[in-house]
Amino acid sequence: MRRLGLADIRAGLARGEFSAVELVEDRLVALEAAEALNAIVTLMPERALDAARAADRRRAAGEPALPLDGVPIAVKDLFCTECVRTTASSAMLESFVPPYESTVTANLTAAGAALAAKTNLDEFAMGSSTATSRFGPTTNPWKAKGDQRPRAPGGSSGGSAALVAASVLPAGLGTDTGGSIRQPAAFCGIVGLKPTYGRCSRWGIVAFASSLDQAGPMTRNVRDAAILLAAMAGHDPKDSTSAREPVPDFEAALGSGVKNLRIGVPLEYRVDGMPDALDVLWREGARWLAEAGAEIVDISLPHTPYALPTYYIIAPAEASSNLARYDGVRYGLRAPARAIEEQYAHTRRAGFGAEVRRRVLIGTYVLSAGYYDAYYTKAQRVRRLIAGDFEQAFGKIDAVLTPTAPTAAFPLGEKMDDPIAMYLNDIFTVPASLAGLPAISVPAGLDHTGLPLGLQLIGRPFDEATVLRAAKALEAAAGFDAEPEFVR
Ligand code: GLN
Repeated sequence: MRRLGLADIRAGLARGEFSAVELVEDRLVALEAAEALNAIVTLMPERALDAARAADRRRAAGEPALPLDGVPIAVKDLFCTECVRTTASSAMLESFVPPYESTVTANLTAAGAALAAKTNLDEFAMGSSTATSRFGPTTNPWKAKGDQRPRAPGGSSGGSAALVAASVLPAGLGTDTGGSIRQPAAFCGIVGLKPTYGRCSRWGIVAFASSLDQAGPMTRNVRDAAILLAAMAGHDPKDSTSAREPVPDFEAALGSGVKNLRIGVPLEYRVDGMPDALDVLWREGARWLAEAGAEIVDISLPHTPYALPTYYIIAPAEASSNLARYDGVRYGLRAPARAIEEQYAHTRRAGFGAEVRRRVLIGTYVLSAGYYDAYYTKAQRVRRLIAGDFEQAFGKIDAVLTPTAPTAAFPLGEKMDDPIAMYLNDIFTVPASLAGLPAISVPAGLDHTGLPLGLQLIGRPFDEATVLRAAKALEAAAGFDAEPEFVR
């Protein structure tokens, strides 16, 4: 049952080939057997089985099936789950049990899904390796040929990515602030979609950078991403930034092909030191889309080189403000102290890891009175220019094709003492984040060591349908069917 995707599960249940309980029980065994990946923070067997039993009862009673009936799902441990510990992989929230449910996980539950595990991430979603977690690093199920070193699954949604890549679960939830769905998807050879900012409610997701955070699907194929997104998305009165846009039938859009689509290839995304294999794959991706009927257009997004420094001002600024709530008073960790200021200091020292502390310091600095204009205001202006680049490009094209990440998965532990090297992972993903645009990573090939590489498609605001259509064509041409060493 490990190879079944969302569409297969729907069909299999309808034909009575297996029950939802059989499927979920089988996958719970697989979850136990995947311990070596360290991808799971908390298992939810009872919650998953309850959902599966409800799905089977509906079917037995002849009621219409729900879109995600019986589908076991991995949930990044950044989504609040009622009565189930939600940690953000931080010591600060290690024993935090929310009394409420995030809107996205509530939507999935209402769609019949069996949420089965809370998954590991970089602490508070800050990182590109899933190695800054309080619970230790997650391991990528892929290994390079002739090299037994364990590799990073990317991050920050590395736990969900690893479980989906290893076929333990058919789908996972991630969040993406600057690339945290797309980069781990690329590193693990799966599909990862960051929707338009506002497409999915942020309510009940532990906040990192509120003007950038978005929830999105992580799956093994494009169709499943379309199915999962439709169930996650929609307006939510509890999140004032969630959009009132109607949610189209993303799955139905997949059939339309790419004839008459114009795909832009931005010259600024060709960076020094990019591996040849990635450059070759990018050109090949453009050729595949052309062969499927799209028109390939060279474009320029001139402010791209400023995206990374802009992101690393805005994201820490918002993080420093969002994380001010962890003070030992209201919830989360409380360190012993004699006076209130000492309590703040001790709690934050004990509760935050090194990377989170670095972000809080950078963010506080760029927001401080003397430097606000020089850093924060300027970054906001550049953000506007980056969005403007895309607006202009979308006057003549329908989607942008780029690589997802500048390298394949690196060995675990690498780049950990060099924050700049780690931040460079995000070079191709942060522009779409700053502009609030939908973007997907599709597994498109393997490098010479047998590690997966991803290509990214970026679309117009709320035009996930076109992004998914183009992704479907890319997927069909790439024919990516390789599997990692570790599967369950
Ligand atoms: N790697 C980026 C960062 O560390 C993006 C993280 C994310 O998207 N949550 O901020």
